[in-house]
Amino acid sequence: MEALTSRSVQVSRKPMSLAERLFLPAILKGMGITFSHIFKKQPTIRYPEQRREFSPVFRGLHVLNRDEEGRERCTACGLCAVACPAEAITMEAAERLPGEEHLYREEKYAAKYEINMLRCIFCGLCEEACPKDAIYLSETFAPANYNRKGFIYGKDDMVIPNLKTDPEGFAKAKGSPRNN
Ligand code: SF4
Ligand code: SF4
Repeated sequence: MEALTSRSVQVSRKPMSLAERLFLPAILKGMGITFSHIFKKQPTIRYPEQRREFSPVFRGLHVLNRDEEGRERCTACGLCAVACPAEAITMEAAERLPGEEHLYREEKYAAKYEINMLRCIFCGLCEEACPKDAIYLSETFAPANYNRKGFIYGKDDMVIPNLKTDPEGFAKAKGSPRNN
């Protein structure tokens, strides 16, 4: 039969020697490699007890920001969704009603805001596109999950706790000093 490429190699079918049939040399070689690693510096760490230092430009889970008065900054303009190369962001806008001025900074707000973390590539373009300083990527990992639905993050997962009512939660979510 004609060969498809010139790189084909004839498979050697020579019979195994006694040592090869006992697998001893291969086992000893493998053990040697294992023991040689005992005295080397471990490349792994004991996560989650130990954590690596993040790069100053690390981008993690998204946070929807509030202003100094605790009001949601997002005005549901959709610029982040347009900028997102992964088409991971969807939202629904709603009009702010009289009496809701203490909840939402602008006349329009995101009644629903979702990011599909399975699509997100953590590029940070949504953060750069936002004219209201309403979204940024924190230093928190998006937690693991067992089903796909668990990776659709809604507003409840991302809106930062209110500084006035939950300062600890606010500081934890705020995370990076570069965003303070
Ligand atoms: S970080 Fe990038 S991929 Fe993820 S939601 Fe923002 S723009 Fe989209
Ligand atoms: S997060 Fe920013 S860019 Fe995205 S909809 Fe809200 S205000 Fe607009």
